[in-house]
Amino acid sequence: MNPRSWSERFSRSSRLVAWCLMTLASGFMANAAYAAAPQVKTQAPGFYRVMVGDFEVTALSDGTHPFPIDTVVEGVSKQEIGRDLTRDFLHAPVQGSINAFLVNTGTKLILIDSGAGVLYGKCCGQVLANLRAAGYRPEQVDEVLLTHLHKDHVGGVIATDGQMMFPNAVVRTSQIEADYWLNADNKKTAPAFLSTFFDSAIASVAPYVAAGRFKPFSGDVELEPGIRAIAVPGHTPGHTAYLVESGAKDLLVWGDIVHVAAIQLQNPKASVEYDTDAQAAQRSRRFALKLAASHQYLVGAAHIAYPGLGHIRQNGRTYDWVPVNYEAAPGR
Ligand SMILES: [Zn+2]
Repeated sequence: MNPRSWSERFSRSSRLVAWCLMTLASGFMANAAYAAAPQVKTQAPGFYRVMVGDFEVTALSDGTHPFPIDTVVEGVSKQEIGRDLTRDFLHAPVQGSINAFLVNTGTKLILIDSGAGVLYGKCCGQVLANLRAAGYRPEQVDEVLLTHLHKDHVGGVIATDGQMMFPNAVVRTSQIEADYWLNADNKKTAPAFLSTFFDSAIASVAPYVAAGRFKPFSGDVELEPGIRAIAVPGHTPGHTAYLVESGAKDLLVWGDIVHVAAIQLQNPKASVEYDTDAQAAQRSRRFALKLAASHQYLVGAAHIAYPGLGHIRQNGRTYDWVPVNYEAAPGR
């Protein structure tokens, strides 16, 4: 080997080594830069739209909160609860969604349930922000239909200063529900942990009562063209579902028929300690599940994982929840 070719080879190989080192170094630097990116830990704004016939329905997230399944679910064994959660890849406490549903009929804007407002703390109270993110304003809401008067459904109708959150809306719920929760005397016969629920219900609807815009209804009546009340008592005395119908399409907004889908669709007998009448709640759950499954209704569920929109499929004695298929531009 002559000295020249040796030196040429040496310089070529040293250039190769240098290139390798630079490549490695830049790889390390790139990895270091990726690792330093802060984790964001938030979701997209919580609104999701579907069309129900000619009606536009927007599911609004109020947030999620840790649901203490071990202490709250009743009527089934701990073993059954553990088995059902494991089947759905869940562990207690499960994050429970709170969902509300905004229906734009084309002539009216109707909000079904309003979330917890400030009553559940920082986890929740996001309905208003998500309603705005969805392109609406609270003053556009014509009616608020409440499935019942528990904190996580009625709390969002007032602002932090106690004024109306929806200044042009009529607020409606069943007369039986209003008579129960708006009468503080009923605290005496209710479990102690529900005592503050009476106070919250009274305070939440107070500005609407004062303005003559709290209008309870009686029976399974049509409240607006295409929106009908269906009594499903048990969770609370006047617990009500709303059937939204447009064209050949139907949406059953069923409130608190199901709190933990993983358990209660396997065991419709499973109740929660918040049920005023567990037996009646169980009957209403079986009724609503059968109704939704047999008519293939789209269901809007207050506490099934957001957006809480899906269908119920019957499997003998048990049921499956089939979430809606994602659509980027519904109705277009
Ligand atoms: Zn609820």
